Amino acid sequence: MGKSSVVLLPAVVASLLAGGTAHAAAAPPASYPIKNASGLTKNALYTSGRLPVTNCPERPVRAGSAASVRTYLNTLVKCLDVTWSAHFLQAHMPFSMPKVRYITKPEKVCGEKWRKNVQGLYCTSTRQITIILDRDVVNHPQDLFLMDVIAHEYGHHIQNITGIWGEYLRLPSRGKSEYNEQTRRNELQAECLAGAFIGSVYKSLDRTPADWRDLLDSTRRSGDEIYKIRDHGKGKNIANWLNRGFKAAGPSACNTWIARPEMVA
Ligand SMILES: [Zn+2]
Repeated sequence: MGKSSVVLLPAVVASLLAGGTAHAAAAPPASYPIKNASGLTKNALYTSGRLPVTNCPERPVRAGSAASVRTYLNTLVKCLDVTWSAHFLQAHMPFSMPKVRYITKPEKVCGEKWRKNVQGLYCTSTRQITIILDRDVVNHPQDLFLMDVIAHEYGHHIQNITGIWGEYLRLPSRGKSEYNEQTRRNELQAECLAGAFIGSVYKSLDRTPADWRDLLDSTRRSGDEIYKIRDHGKGKNIANWLNRGFKAAGPSACNTWIARPEMVA
């Protein structure tokens, strides 16, 4: 699978807050980079070391076949389970696997309407990943985009079981722009964790360095500036965190909460 599709897919990978507006209003204001939330800034996840190297050959995937794309993704989910469960065991941190579900058209998930341009979603309360297998993605499944999508949603699960997500929800925010700043730190961390996983298995994939560069390039071209939102980050920042995780092949590079504001813009 050395060939990359040239089609640019929407790389907005959103996540819904369980329950919607969970940000408390009464707590003291947060400061940036985040200082007063040690579950975010000093989480044991960051010192848990590199991810174990798992052998994760990709299943051949047939363009146009949703069943084939599902099989391809299920193989990746198994690799993610193996990698992250072994990592947590080694770090003496409690682990549980997420559930994964596929849909073919938009539907209500986690109590919310499916947003346009969203490819995957993680629901914290049910610990379930939902991936939409729409026509775009089923017709062009060969590049690393799908791997990024599933690894990103899995990253949200990692945030959930390490308590990061819960603490993020408890951060006080005053208004939309502060809320967006926090959400970008959370999203960019999930993207970095996706990169960490992909970096840990990359040698076992039949992929070239150019395939990785292609993913970074398409990521750079698909940030908030394209989708007219401000909650995932500019394309160059999404690509930067993805690549930081990839190079570190572990969560040590993924502490977005203490990063300078321009890195999470
Ligand atoms: Zn996300």
